[in-house]
Amino acid sequence: MTEFGPELEAVAPGVRRLRLPIPFPMRWVNVYVLGDGATPTLVDAGYPVPEARSLLLEALHRAGLRPEILLVTHAHPDHFGLAAELAGELGCEVWMESRELEAAQSYQPASSTWGLLAAQFEQGGMPPDRVEDVIRTGQHTWAVTPPPRVSRFVRADEELELGGRRWRVLVTPGHAPAHVCLFDPDSQTLLAGDHLLPRITPNIGLWPTGSEDPLDDFLRSLAALRPLPVRRVLPGHGDPYDTFQGRVQELLDHHRQRLQAILQTLRGGPRTAYGVCTALFGDGLDSHNVRFAMVETLSHLAYLERRGRLQRGEDGLYRASH
Ligand SMILES: [Zn+2]
Repeated sequence: MTEFGPELEAVAPGVRRLRLPIPFPMRWVNVYVLGDGATPTLVDAGYPVPEARSLLLEALHRAGLRPEILLVTHAHPDHFGLAAELAGELGCEVWMESRELEAAQSYQPASSTWGLLAAQFEQGGMPPDRVEDVIRTGQHTWAVTPPPRVSRFVRADEELELGGRRWRVLVTPGHAPAHVCLFDPDSQTLLAGDHLLPRITPNIGLWPTGSEDPLDDFLRSLAALRPLPVRRVLPGHGDPYDTFQGRVQELLDHHRQRLQAILQTLRGGPRTAYGVCTALFGDGLDSHNVRFAMVETLSHLAYLERRGRLQRGEDGLYRASH
């Protein structure tokens, strides 16, 4: 028996959740259904595996829902992967931020972005056969996730009426270039995508076509959200939770400690980016996880380098500043 069922679970006023299996370590992605009247909205779409597709369609069928809008929080395969297919199947519109659509397009398997990522990893000292594996695994993940046709580009700070409630669009770059959260001030509910996950810290990666300082973007996005009176957080993975302020603080603390750990490592001697990566994450990661560990390491190194806390030499080695 599967651990996932087709029942929608009420998680906040006017919001229900469905967990869809994904073939990645986080095990499931949350899809949210806003409203139950004439114009329900889906938030995120899941990844194209047969079980996820049939669970979602069955859940909608059982609840008598026909979504008119599918809003995508960000262009990662587990969040938008099924979007194009669902839009065709359900006849719904897809809404997302324009830079996220560009990101979805730029990681299609034949795109030059993968060559840029390979070069970035090789320059970072990752062994070439490892790089080849990592790139192949990444392209494989993206091979089944065509970019959807987008009917409307959502914009920062606009208000959207979705499923009978008013949601404010909050663009929160960091985990993705123009990651979108939605906030309902009446119920004080934050649909957080992958910006504020419980238990695990969202991956903050330096990707070849993205921001040059994604960690700074992420820390600024956290600071910008902090004043919001959020009572309920509905994350993209894991379970809903009610400790918004505490979680923001934990994520800020985590990154501060990670930056210190990197400087501490480099005080023991210069290292390549890959050397720092294996010092932080070990060298037992598979070709899926090492991609995220490496871009995360690079984002922290870039943050420190831009602030003069370390230098990258001609030899590709990072050294802590004195
Ligand atoms: Zn994500």
